[in-house]
Amino acid sequence: GKDDRIARISSAIRVIPDFPKPGIMFQDITTLLLDPKAFKDTIDLFVERYKGKDISVVAGIEARGFIFGPPIALAIGAKFVPMRKPKKLPGEVISEEYSLEYGTDKMEMHVGAVQAGERALVIDDLIATGGTLCAAIRLLERVGVHVVECACVIELADLKGRERLGDKQLFVLVSSL
Ligand code: AMP
Repeated sequence: GKDDRIARISSAIRVIPDFPKPGIMFQDITTLLLDPKAFKDTIDLFVERYKGKDISVVAGIEARGFIFGPPIALAIGAKFVPMRKPKKLPGEVISEEYSLEYGTDKMEMHVGAVQAGERALVIDDLIATGGTLCAAIRLLERVGVHVVECACVIELADLKGRERLGDKQLFVLVSSL
């Protein structure tokens, strides 16, 4: 059943304390990728939720949204659009700044990749404060795309990133403290 799949996914994620710096509990999804059954279940659970929802864009956030986004996009018949770190995309881009714990970062998207009125799913491996997903939502909405929902494998629930998304729906497989 669904709960068995979630349990297997959860136990396939490795937690590394104090990476990349002291106090951070790093949720390492590379061990999930080593378990083909758990990796497939992860993709299947997202596909089961989004199939038939008229989504034409899966927007994946660099870097780990590039691992989960494409197989979902293929399975639901949507295009995949990479949301990248600055100066990586060769075409015309729009960019959005967002704040980090120290300083700011930027996210970029090719302007011609999406059209106004399209329906998008935004995907990343994990939501912490929600700042990254918010920047992706703003980028897509600036060009008239409707963000149907955000999806992550893991939510760090005590950081309350979900609240930062406002009325935007967030779907996660594993909630962790
Ligand atoms: P945030 O913008 O605070 O929601 O941070 C989410 C982004 O940072 C995602 O792209 C995650 O991959 C990464 N991230 C933040 N915290 C962690 C963590 N504890 N373990 C793994 N990745 C993290």
